[in-house]
Amino acid sequence: MLKENTLPVQVDPFRFAENATRLQGALFIKDMRRIAPNLYSNEGEAKVQMEFGVDRQGIRFLRGQYTACLTLQCQRCLESFAYKTEGSFLSGFVRTEEEAAKLSKGYDPFIVEEGMLTLRDVFEDELIVNLPIVPMHPVDDCKVKLPLTIETDEKVEVSKENPFKVIEFLKVRS
Ligand SMILES: [Zn+2]
Repeated sequence: MLKENTLPVQVDPFRFAENATRLQGALFIKDMRRIAPNLYSNEGEAKVQMEFGVDRQGIRFLRGQYTACLTLQCQRCLESFAYKTEGSFLSGFVRTEEEAAKLSKGYDPFIVEEGMLTLRDVFEDELIVNLPIVPMHPVDDCKVKLPLTIETDEKVEVSKENPFKVIEFLKVRS
């Protein structure tokens, strides 16, 4: 069964795995509290797909996919830019740390506490892990132009005179 755009907030992952439930829909970025400090604005949503199941070894799993467009702040010019991100993951549900240690390779262990799984948390974790370390516009789109290439003899001469010019420039702008 495939349910469209009616994502429950929490699910019983073991039951969903037994039922081979599939879900797809959207999660609002504004509902994600932990990622918020990394964002310029919290508009937008993540489009997500989930497939729960049980493999031959009896592992209850969730195969997830997402695409999202986040609004980040460029660390070079300090303006906002749209950051498209997508990914997929395969989580195996366990109840304890010991079970997590025994889980087959290929599964990311997900410890389910108190029997319920908050879907938003699963995808928020993925978005956080895949954020760029230093968010920046692509070079051509950024207002701040760094002197990355030295094309003429004259410029080479300048850089010899002051080898710290580029570093100073970076300090002023950052
Ligand atoms: Zn920029």
